[in-house]
Amino acid sequence: MIRAAFLLFLAIVPAFPAGAAENSVRSAPTRPGAASPAVPSASAPAAPSGEKPLPGKRFGRIEYVSLAAAAPRLGARLNWLEAGRRLELKGPGGRAEVETDSREITVNGLRVFLGDPVVASGGDAFVSRVDHERCLLPLLRPGHGQAPRAAPRVIVLDPGHGGTDPGKINDRLGISEKTLTLDVARRAQRLLEADGHRVLLTRDDDSFVALPQRAAAARAAKADVFVSIHFNAVPRDNRTSGVEVYTFAPRFQRSTNAWGAGARDDTEEFASPANRHDHWNVLLAHALHRRFVNDLKSDDRGKKLMHLAVLRPLDCPGVLVECGFLSSDAEARKIASPAHRQQLAVAIAAGLRDYAAVLARARAK
Ligand SMILES: [Zn+2]
Repeated sequence: MIRAAFLLFLAIVPAFPAGAAENSVRSAPTRPGAASPAVPSASAPAAPSGEKPLPGKRFGRIEYVSLAAAAPRLGARLNWLEAGRRLELKGPGGRAEVETDSREITVNGLRVFLGDPVVASGGDAFVSRVDHERCLLPLLRPGHGQAPRAAPRVIVLDPGHGGTDPGKINDRLGISEKTLTLDVARRAQRLLEADGHRVLLTRDDDSFVALPQRAAAARAAKADVFVSIHFNAVPRDNRTSGVEVYTFAPRFQRSTNAWGAGARDDTEEFASPANRHDHWNVLLAHALHRRFVNDLKSDDRGKKLMHLAVLRPLDCPGVLVECGFLSSDAEARKIASPAHRQQLAVAIAAGLRDYAAVLARARAK
């Protein structure tokens, strides 16, 4: 389970009261109606170097771009699957399926949450400029407009919780998140070291490490990649299961979970250090997400955005993975087995290999 920070790096508050978060996730409409809170005005982020910004159009207070106009920039072909309602975009990075009035899209078959709902207008579909630049562009045209990145060498794995903070617990099975995250991290460390990486853990015993220290450890190690490992839970719910992958929310966008009824709009109008890596954060998340869903056959609860304190100060690409629900006895029993935790570690190592391959292809262009 994870915590979000809404203020400065040190201000760490739970995203929601226990239970409300997950319940609001499951019940949150992805088709906000007229009653949805307005999102603060977003000035346009810079277009990739040397390109003219796409013309913008305001819906409410958010600036949008037309997908018909954006498709060439995305290196993608646009086909309507259902006129005015559902379309696909096929680019070098894969295939996205987009539905109007929804924040949820699929990319290469995986659930991905945009920061703003897609809008239908005049026979065209519009996505927010931030979603275009910080989600669709990286996924459909990896590396476009970005300085090439060297192959990742130093990887920092962050086993969630520890010491006085056990994280989530399944009393019935007598297992706690802090023990399981450390075990998965150690297993992934061995696999990644065998791949030739230098791998550091933010903790290698049952000790408490504050969130800002975890990012500081990555900075000190000159990390190329940061992966925070967690397990999830919903109080008094035995059924919810599956994986979620989080990146730090781009500037001018709110957390995915902040769209639920009664949720506070946590949009930030300032950029955080993590936002310098929005393009690569999304690609790193997609690589891990793909392995978790395709190789482990985990239920896909989506790639989401959150203002996570552990990711905010990073000066390298970073993600947080929620590897399964301890509150589901069926999933918790799997997680309790060393064989399943080894599979989780294998998926993390394979996802990082895939991410390195995406960087290599981007460098080759
Ligand atoms: Zn956690």
